[in-house]
Amino acid sequence: MPAGPDDRDERRLVLLVEDNLHNRRIFSGVLQHFGFAVVEAVNGAEAVELARQRRPDLILMDLSLPGLDGWAATRQIKDTPELASTPIIALTAHAMPDDEERAREAGCDGYLAKPISPKKVAAEVSRLLQQKDER
Ligand code: MN
Repeated sequence: MPAGPDDRDERRLVLLVEDNLHNRRIFSGVLQHFGFAVVEAVNGAEAVELARQRRPDLILMDLSLPGLDGWAATRQIKDTPELASTPIIALTAHAMPDDEERAREAGCDGYLAKPISPKKVAAEVSRLLQQKDER
């Protein structure tokens, strides 16, 4: 059957970038629970590629990634004109004192330090999507 208007996926799309399988499952589950569609990337290069292909509404970006890290991937995404306004939330496990500052300098719009509660993720995602809608 051809896809009609009723078959369209109206959910907002979140690109989840996380190299740790366990964390990826948790974040993906939380996002889907709160009604988001999720596409997953496991490293920075894949994140940039998928962001360009899928044009997500928002990106959750682990900072510590193999190869191209989260800071570099964020810079590349924010340097892509059609993606520059896509909100990016940084996720970090290490919480080094300058992590947040470096994340914001790279272009991240939000910042969450692990361990992250599901409510916090949902609240930050909603806050940034609302901010984007109001622009
Ligand atoms: Mn990681």
